[in-house]
Amino acid sequence: MNAAAVPTFGAKSNDFATYIDAVNYIGGEWTAPVADTFMDVINPRHGKAMARVAMSGAQDVANAVAAAKEAFKTWSQEPIRERAQVFYRLKVLMERDVDELAWLVSHENGKTFGESKAEVLKGIECVEYGCSLPQMAGGSGLEVSRGVTCQQVYEPIGVVAGVAPFNFPSMVPLWMLPQAIVGGNAFILKPSEQVPLSMIRMAELFREAGLPDGVFNIVNGGKDVVEALCDDEGIDALAFVGSTRVAKLVYGRAAASGKRVLCLGGAKNHLIVVPDADPSVTTENVVASFTGCAGQRCMAASVLVAVGDVQHLIDAVAERAASMKIGQDLGPITTQASLDRINSFIDDAEKRGAKVLVDGRGQTADAGGYWIGPTLLDNVSADMPAGHEEIFGPVLSIIRVDTVDEAIALENSNPYGNASSIYTSSGEVARYVTRKLEAGMIGVNIGVPVPREPFGFGGWNHSKFGSGNITGWDGFRFWTRARKITTKWALQKDATWMS
Ligand code: NAD
Repeated sequence: MNAAAVPTFGAKSNDFATYIDAVNYIGGEWTAPVADTFMDVINPRHGKAMARVAMSGAQDVANAVAAAKEAFKTWSQEPIRERAQVFYRLKVLMERDVDELAWLVSHENGKTFGESKAEVLKGIECVEYGCSLPQMAGGSGLEVSRGVTCQQVYEPIGVVAGVAPFNFPSMVPLWMLPQAIVGGNAFILKPSEQVPLSMIRMAELFREAGLPDGVFNIVNGGKDVVEALCDDEGIDALAFVGSTRVAKLVYGRAAASGKRVLCLGGAKNHLIVVPDADPSVTTENVVASFTGCAGQRCMAASVLVAVGDVQHLIDAVAERAASMKIGQDLGPITTQASLDRINSFIDDAEKRGAKVLVDGRGQTADAGGYWIGPTLLDNVSADMPAGHEEIFGPVLSIIRVDTVDEAIALENSNPYGNASSIYTSSGEVARYVTRKLEAGMIGVNIGVPVPREPFGFGGWNHSKFGSGNITGWDGFRFWTRARKITTKWALQKDATWMS
C-alpha cells in the first residue's frame, strides 16, 4: 500500500463486509511485515474472515523504532501548543467519520453499533483531553532562596510504545496516544491482532490531521511483537492493557530493559446490593453492567453481592436480563475459544450447586457467530471459579451474604481490584463501603464507574502493575519526564555547599 491508501469502511449495517489487510504503518509508509506472515481477522458476529492482519516480528519493531527515533528529533522540538493542534483537527475528523469508525469497531469486535459509537465518542473525549494539555502542562517555578529559582518542566521521553487488548479497538489506544504525542514522544502501537482495523483507519486520520510521518507508527502482530517491544532498548516507555497474566509478564520483561512501564490487567468486579437500594436504578444498572459489550469489559459487573433480603431486586434483575435480545441488545463473544471458556464456567458452577436463574447457553443470533445470552447464576460461592475468576462474558454470579461487612470482606479477598460498586439509598452506607473496598475505581449506584476525563483510569492490586493511572493527568506524567532547572540569577561570589 502506498501513502494515503486506507479507504473508508463502507458498511452501514451488520451485514458482513470485508476490509483491507492491516499491514504495518512505519514512518508514514504502509509496509508488509518482513516475514510476510498474516492471520485472518474474524468478524465474530458472522464467524468469517473480513481481512488479514500482519503477524510481525522483531525486525519490524526495529524498523519502527528507527523511524520513530528520526521523527522524534523534530516532533519533540515543536512547542506543545503546535503538537496539540493535531488533536484539535483529529477531533473534527473523528466527529466527521464517527459512524464509519463505529461500524468498523462493530464489525471487527462484535459489539453493537450503539456500543461501538459510545466507544468512539469516548475516544474523542480522550482526544479533547489531549487538546487541553497546553493549558495544564505549564510546570512550576519558585524562588527557593534569595535570587535562586527552581523550575520544573515536562519533557518528552523519546520513543514510546503501547499494547492494546481486543475489547476496545478504538478507545484503549486513545487512552495513550493524546498524552504521549502531545507530550512530544514518537509512538509505536501494537493493537490486538484480533481487532487491528480501527487503528489503521485512525492512522489515516492522523495523517489527514497533519501529524508528521513517524510520530505514530503501528506494528501489527501478537506475542512476538510485544516481546520485541519489551526488549528493544530504543523504546523508553511502554504501556500495556490486557489480561492480568500477560500484564504481569510484560511488566517484568519491559522493566528488565530499563523502561518505564505501566500495565493494566484483568478484573473481577463486585457490585454490592443492600435492601434499601432503589429498585429501578439498581435493576437497569446491574443488567447494563454485566451485559454491556457482552460482558467483555474490564469494568463489567461479574459478582452481585446480595446483602440480606434483596430477593425482589434479584427477581427484577433476572426478569430484565431474560428479556434482552442477543444480536440486538448485545453482540457476540470475540472467539469460539472465549465462548467455550464462558460456557465452561457456567457448566462448572452448575455442577458445584449453583442455580442457573437465567440461562444464555445455546442462544444464537446470526449464523456462524459466537453467541451466548445473559446468564445469571445464584448461590455461587467465592471458592467456585465463577465466584473468583474473570469470566469476560455476560455472566453474573450472585453470592449471598448477611451483612455489609461480609460483602466488603468478600470483595477484598479477591486478588483483582479494578472496580466495585455499592447500590444503596443511604449516604452513610455508601460512605462506609466506598472507603473500605480494595478497588481503584468505586461506584455509588453506578455499575460501570469509569473515571471520565480529567480523572485517571486505573485499578489496584492484580488489576494494575506500575504506578499512576493511564488516562488524565497521570497519563501525561507517565509519558513525560520532569526536568528540574535551578538558576542563580545574580552572579554571586559567595559559595555554599550548594554552589
Ligand atoms: P490479552 O492479555 O490476551 O492480550 C492483550 C495484548 O497482549 C494483545 O495485544 C496481545 O497480542 C498481547 N499478548 C497476548 N498474549 C501475549 C503474551 N503471552 N506475551 C506478550 N503479549 C501477549 O487480553 P485480551 O484478551 O486482548 O483482552 C481482554 C483482557 O484485557 C481482559 O482480561 C480484560 O479485563 C483486560 N482489559 C483490562 C483493561 C483495564 O483497563 N484494566 C481494559 C481493557 C481490557
